[in-house]
Amino acid sequence: MATQGRRRGGADEEDLKEQVAMCCRVLYSEGLMRNVGHLTLRIPGTDRFFLGFNRYTYGDTQAKDIITFDLSARKVAGPEVLLPYETFIYTEVLKARPDVNSVLHVHMPVTLAFGIAGREILPLYLHDSEVLRFGVTTVDNPLLASTVDRGQAIARALREASACHMRGHGQVIVGETAEQATNRAMQLEDGAKINLMALQLNPHPKTLTGTEMEEFVYENRRTPETSAIEPYSAIRKRIPGVALGQVGYLARELAAKQKARS
Ligand SMILES: [Zn+2]
Repeated sequence: MATQGRRRGGADEEDLKEQVAMCCRVLYSEGLMRNVGHLTLRIPGTDRFFLGFNRYTYGDTQAKDIITFDLSARKVAGPEVLLPYETFIYTEVLKARPDVNSVLHVHMPVTLAFGIAGREILPLYLHDSEVLRFGVTTVDNPLLASTVDRGQAIARALREASACHMRGHGQVIVGETAEQATNRAMQLEDGAKINLMALQLNPHPKTLTGTEMEEFVYENRRTPETSAIEPYSAIRKRIPGVALGQVGYLARELAAKQKARS
């Protein structure tokens, strides 16, 4: 039985690595993660997590490129590469937020501009509003999160929110899954772009209410088939060409696995 469990665990971990790699490729194709920033995913039931990496370009990230760390920021497995300096973002947020399994650090330019300007990204567009439900706070420290203290400051700033700014540096975005964190990154950058345009047309646009946002999130999740593949479908709508096939494939695979388990 133990062997069977290890086999099953091993196979699942390979699936998770592929999900992280796929999301890195999506973020790259969207122009949201060039060769700086990382996507991480907690390995269920362990004190370890995967970190997406590719020494050349995130557009080519594969499962074999993924590095495994433990929650003390020690590398456990993975290719021999120069390790990231900001691993404490991931260790400290994963420790502080049991509801979160995936932590993403990116440097998205339009969102970054709002953080630098100290301007709130208003909830204006329904489909990009989910990430804004708990606001986007700011960590008033632009330096690399290369210490435990700096990682903990980010976790404190996030509170129960889905995203925060690192002033003059980038963003930290979290999700229950790597796909959700990826989707929220796209929502946030799109939301910032829409704000930039709408505020030029009207400095006081009508914002969505909290009730409207909650109702949208509820309606979006209550259909069983959309709740299973919603993050994939949201990504699928946005990316062209080859990446669309990859995401569609994984969405079908995930749905088939969930059906087989039920
Ligand atoms: Zn950074």
